[in-house]
Amino acid sequence: MSVQSVVRCDSYDPDLMREAVRRHFAALNIGRYIKPGINVLIKPNLVAARKPQTAATTRLEVVRAIAECLRSMGVEHIVLADSPGGLYTAQALDTVYAVTGMRALQDVLELNRGTGYRQRGHFNIIDPVCEADLIVNVAKLKTHSMTRLSAGVKNLFGCVPGLQKPELHYTYPEAGAFAQMLVDLSQIVKPQITVLDAVECMEGDGPTGGTMRRLGLLLASDNMYAQDDFAARLIGMDPGDVIMLRKARAQRLYDLEDVTYVGDEPVYADPPFRLPHAVTVDVAGFLPGWLQKPARFAMDRLLKPLPRLDRDKCVGCGKCAESCPPGIITIREHKAIFVAKGCISCFCCQEMCPAHAISVRRRLRR
Ligand code: SF4
Ligand code: SF4
Repeated sequence: MSVQSVVRCDSYDPDLMREAVRRHFAALNIGRYIKPGINVLIKPNLVAARKPQTAATTRLEVVRAIAECLRSMGVEHIVLADSPGGLYTAQALDTVYAVTGMRALQDVLELNRGTGYRQRGHFNIIDPVCEADLIVNVAKLKTHSMTRLSAGVKNLFGCVPGLQKPELHYTYPEAGAFAQMLVDLSQIVKPQITVLDAVECMEGDGPTGGTMRRLGLLLASDNMYAQDDFAARLIGMDPGDVIMLRKARAQRLYDLEDVTYVGDEPVYADPPFRLPHAVTVDVAGFLPGWLQKPARFAMDRLLKPLPRLDRDKCVGCGKCAESCPPGIITIREHKAIFVAKGCISCFCCQEMCPAHAISVRRRLRR
C-alpha cells in the first residue's frame, strides 16, 4: 500500500510551501522515520547551473520548507547533495549552488562539497547518499529528451558522480537498457519519500532546454514509481510511453490499485505538456487524430534523432564535449563540431549547453 499526497500551490510563497510540506509529512507519517541522531539527505534536482525561474532545477523554497519541517521534528543533521551534469568538483558544486539559489539554505542544512563516492551494487554512488538514514528525493517535474519524463526515478541519476553518468549512457545506449539501469539504480538508492516540485514545471526540450509551464502542485509519495505514473498522467503523457515506468511495473514495483490518494483534487494540464523534439519532431501532429499514434510509432523507428548545432549561439565553452559519452564532439576555433557517426542520441550535450545552441533534427536510420 502506498500514499499519494496532493497539495495545490499557486506559487512558491514560503508560507504556502511550509503548509504544503506539513500536510505531506502528516499524510505520509514521516515521523515513523525520525530517530535521535538521524542523518537526513535531501536530494534535489540540480541538473546544471540554471537560474530558478528556468524551471530546470528544484526550487529552493521547496527544499527550505522540507528542511524547516524536519528541523521542527528534531532533526539536526540535514545534508543537501546532488551530482549535477559535468565535473563533480567542489568548485563546480559551488557554482551550481550559487546559480540555483541553494546557497541561501545554509542556515537550515549543510550543502555537500565533498566529492567522494563508493560502490553500491554495480553503481558508484556519492557519499552523502550512502551515509543517509533517511533520503528525501526532491524532484522536478519535466519532460525529458531521452527518457520522455523526468520526475522521481530520473532524479536519482544524480546520485552517480560526475562524468560517470555519461559513461553509463555509453554502456547503456539503447533506450530500454538505459531505462532498466535507472530502475536498478533507484532500487539501490531507495528513497523513503519523494517530493515532486510540480508548481512550475518544464515542457518541451527538457531537462534544461524547455520552457516553464505552471501546474500548481506539490506532490509527495512513499512510492516514487506510482507517483511518476500519476505525474505523467497529470501532464497528459501516457505512462505506458515511459519505458522506465513500464519496466518498474513489470517488476511489480508499483500497482495503481494499491495507491491511496489524499489531499486536494489534482490539476490536469490542458493542453498536455509539449514533448521534446527528440521524442517527436511532430509532423504526425498535422495528421488526423486516428493516424497520429501509428505515424509517431513509424517515425520513431525510421528516423533517428540527432543533435543540430546553431553555430551563432555556440560560445565554445566545451560543456557538450565534456559530457558526450562516445566523445564525438570537439571544439575548434571556439565552436563545437559534431560527428554524427557514433551518436547514441542521449542528448547530454543539449542538457549541458548553457547557450541553448543545440536542437534536434531527424535522419533516416541506417
Ligand atoms: S553528440 Fe550529443 S546526443 Fe550524440 S552521443 Fe554525444 S552527447 Fe549524446
Ligand atoms: S554547443 Fe553549447 S555546450 Fe557546446 S561548446 Fe557550444 S555553447 Fe558550449
